[in-house]
Amino acid sequence: MVEDKRLHKIPGHNDVKWDNRNADKFRGDVKETGIGFMGWDYDTATEQFKVYLHYDQLYYWKYAEVSKLGKGFVDGEFWGTQCPKCGDKFFPPRVNCWNLNCNLARSVWTELRQEGVVHTFTVAGWSGKSSLKRLPFVLAYVIVDGCKTAIANELRGLDPWDAEFGMPVKVVWKPKNERQGTVTDWHFEPADDWKPGPMNPEKERIKELCQPVIEWVKTMK
Ligand SMILES: [Zn+2]
Repeated sequence: MVEDKRLHKIPGHNDVKWDNRNADKFRGDVKETGIGFMGWDYDTATEQFKVYLHYDQLYYWKYAEVSKLGKGFVDGEFWGTQCPKCGDKFFPPRVNCWNLNCNLARSVWTELRQEGVVHTFTVAGWSGKSSLKRLPFVLAYVIVDGCKTAIANELRGLDPWDAEFGMPVKVVWKPKNERQGTVTDWHFEPADDWKPGPMNPEKERIKELCQPVIEWVKTMK
C-alpha cells in the first residue's frame, strides 16, 4: 500500500458525499462559446465549497482546504488563517504556517477586518478585453488586517496617479446575488479618511503616462 504523504487529506469523491443531483441545477443551457459561470455550491456538513463553470460541458472546481475562503466571499466575509504557535495571520490563507520555527504547524481559520494597507501597486495601461473601458486602473497588493501575505485586487475610487504605498484601504462588495465565490466579488477603495497627497514629480510622471490611455478609452464604442 502506498503511503499517503500529504500533510492533510484533501477530500475527494470518496470522502465527501456530494449530493450530485445538485449539479443538474448548474448545467443550464449555454449557447455561447466560451466559459460561463453557472453558480456555486456549499456543503454545510463537510464545509466544502465548489464553483461550477460551463465550457462546452459542465466543470467544477473544489476549494477543498480553503473552502471557507470562497464561501466567505459569497457571504461578504474575509476568512484568513492564523498559526496557533506564532500567531501570524495569512490572507490569502495558508493551510500551514511558513515560519520555519513553527515546523509547518497547521493554521486555524480566523475572520479578518476588511481593511488593509497598500503594500505595492501598478497602474495598468492595458488589459483584457472586458476591462479595456476602465483603463487606466490601479492593481494593488494589499496587506489585510496585519496578515503576513498580501492579496492582489483592483484599487478603485481614486485617480491612478494618486495611489500611494502604505495608503489605507477598505473593501467594497458586489451585490450578494452577483458574487461567485472569487476575488472578483470585491475590490479595494481608499479608506474613508484617506486624502491624496499633493502632486509631486513622480505623480506628474504617472499622470502624463495615463493621458494617452484616457484619450484612447474615450474613442472606444
Ligand atoms: Zn507560525
